[in-house]
Amino acid sequence: MTSQSPIWHPFTQHALQPVMTKIARSEGAWLETEDGRRIYDGIASWWVITHGHNHPPIMEAIRAQAGVLDQLIFAGFTHGPAEEVARRLVEIAPDGLAHVFFSDSGSTSIEVALKMALGFFVHRGEKRTRVVALEHAYHGDTIGCMSVGARGVFNDPYGPLLFEVERIPYPAPGREQEAFDAFEAVCRRDPPAAIIVEPLILGSGGMLFYTPAALRELHRIAKAYGVLFIADEVMTGFGRTGTLFACEQAGIAPDIMCLAKGLTGGVIPLAVTLATHEIFEAHYSPDRARMFFHSSSFTANPIACAAAAANLRVWRDEPVRERIAGLVAAQAERVARLKDHAGFADARSLGTIAAMDLRVKDAGYLAGIAQKLMEFFLSRGLLLRPLGNTVYIMPPYCTTPSELDVVYAAIEEAAALV
Ligand SMILES: *Cc1c(COP(=O)(O)O)cnc(C)c1O
Repeated sequence: MTSQSPIWHPFTQHALQPVMTKIARSEGAWLETEDGRRIYDGIASWWVITHGHNHPPIMEAIRAQAGVLDQLIFAGFTHGPAEEVARRLVEIAPDGLAHVFFSDSGSTSIEVALKMALGFFVHRGEKRTRVVALEHAYHGDTIGCMSVGARGVFNDPYGPLLFEVERIPYPAPGREQEAFDAFEAVCRRDPPAAIIVEPLILGSGGMLFYTPAALRELHRIAKAYGVLFIADEVMTGFGRTGTLFACEQAGIAPDIMCLAKGLTGGVIPLAVTLATHEIFEAHYSPDRARMFFHSSSFTANPIACAAAAANLRVWRDEPVRERIAGLVAAQAERVARLKDHAGFADARSLGTIAAMDLRVKDAGYLAGIAQKLMEFFLSRGLLLRPLGNTVYIMPPYCTTPSELDVVYAAIEEAAALV
């Protein structure tokens, strides 16, 4: 059956899912259909919403900016909201990240990071062109992002277009040394330009956690061999792991850091790639050929920047960290209760994120159970979208413990679906 709508949806097999749930409104942690059915947004609308839907100060900032300055070429021109966002980000980011390059999606911020890293070595006249990436990584769906991401069913058809990277294991708890040894071996053989990592948690790869100590060690090895360290904080940024940025927990300062999803509170697209002065300096020259050749039409769109500026003020003025701490504790408590549940393996939480693997025969992203689970959760008024047999909850920070209780009750019930 073909769908009535001309829309081709992302990560959707239309032959198996002909009808989309139509949402009319959102508020806080909730979505509402046209006919008034309420759905709890357990994955923050695909990992983007932080404080909650329609958080008033951010909505107000968007309204105030609209009608004042809508869009502006960002080469040769600048504007107040972008300046405010950039200054504030440099203040709160790990030390040394002194320059802010705007773009409009997480994927683009990664492409920019890779181009900055490669450009850095070209302009310094040093021949380093390879990038190190982790197994199970996800960095977005454009060609460069897919190249550094894990290979698999997601990108098999495009394999011939993807560039080769040095792939090392991710530092799985208890097996960290394999990752360190592999990284060090690559560096010794022929030092690469950069290593790119999702700090502390590989999200789309299955909510795979690793420790701050392991992140610190990867960073230490990178520094020892002059390898640029790229932190993809597109998902982890803005509180998801319990701290503003995941890198803080390891006490490291990356050379390049990518932010997107939660930058505007998750309400409007905007991304940044932050870089050290050294990387900026390598492109700084009277020679036009050395400028950084990248732009998107909507780079630093003023309305998006106004939303981001408002979000950064929310972080400064509201008790966001306390709210997050409450959610972190609530998640940990509920995960602890699932530890001995026969239906689940590896119930785990990291900051505001919780995940558990349903024991099934056909594990993996295409596990038949995923669609069945999603439909079951939706029938309970819950938006959860398992990664194969991995069920996870990534809630907006306004979520209450009693809302979480409803989610966990449904998850326990779901174990019987296997
Ligand atoms: C979502 C995500 C991206 C891609 O961001 P988009 O805005 O969807 O392009 C990159 N890296 C990580 C870790 C992500 O979770």
